[in-house]
Amino acid sequence: MESIGHTKEKQLLGRLIKSGNIPHAILFSGPKKIGKKKIAIEFIKSIFCTNRPSGWGFCSECYSCRNIDSNTIPDFSIICPEDESKEIKIEQIRDLQEKFCLTSFSGGYKAGIVDDAHLMNHHSQNSFLKTLEEPKGKTVLVLITDRPDSLLPTINSRVQNMKFSILPKKEIEDYLITLGASAEKAKGISAISSGQIGKAIDYFTSPEKKEWFEKIISDLIDLKISKLNKKFAYSKEKSENYEEMIEMLEIWERYFRKELLTKIMKPEEDQQFNYSTQKIKNIIKKIGQSKYLIENTNSSKKLVLDELVMEL
Ligand SMILES: [Zn+2]
Repeated sequence: MESIGHTKEKQLLGRLIKSGNIPHAILFSGPKKIGKKKIAIEFIKSIFCTNRPSGWGFCSECYSCRNIDSNTIPDFSIICPEDESKEIKIEQIRDLQEKFCLTSFSGGYKAGIVDDAHLMNHHSQNSFLKTLEEPKGKTVLVLITDRPDSLLPTINSRVQNMKFSILPKKEIEDYLITLGASAEKAKGISAISSGQIGKAIDYFTSPEKKEWFEKIISDLIDLKISKLNKKFAYSKEKSENYEEMIEMLEIWERYFRKELLTKIMKPEEDQQFNYSTQKIKNIIKKIGQSKYLIENTNSSKKLVLDELVMEL
């Protein structure tokens, strides 16, 4: 399946290929699970495909197209954290640099994708910087991240930034229908996917993920009327799984943003949390701060969550 949406970005990338002036490094930034990686791979295929004229487009059948997906052509590498460390290590960057020093196997471009580029540790980022400072011949690097601020300013200033946004609900709905969802189901899933196509696909293909999402929302509503000890028990449970905790905070944030919007646009409508506009704004701010502390500092996850649930 080809990627959906992001038409303007694809057109721009197509024009870059056609012009023969592909930048050495492009940064794909934007929220998680909206298709950035898929488009990065399609971009590389569009450069390497031997059956298509220059511009955006690929045949999916030639040697390059078939082997880019499996990361098995010598002129292309995709790197991401390899183990539980959740870090892109300097050795991985060095491997990429070595590959870039060799002559191109196909006589054309050499390309690399760094997925979750913000997970390059400090050493990796510094080493990576050298590649950006001394680009070699026909090379193209695509960095993908939802946290461009975690990259060194010197990296940010040397890459061409391309920002991706969430997809319109309708596009997600239509796509789910092509996957076999009923119109009603497609609408329901699209409504809770916050424009993230990857999330919509997860909810459609694994019902347990959708159930998990629904449970997070119902737990949140319960928390409002829970006693403090129950709130703390909940934050203890949730602080034990980093990925789920971050996802939960993102769901909470979107939930309160929606509450805020309803409060402003339709003040007569009943709401689960009958909070003042100011209180909702404070909670949204607090969720953002909590997420920052958890992702960027060594603060105790449990304590950060404790402080947050007290506000509910
Ligand atoms: Zn092809």
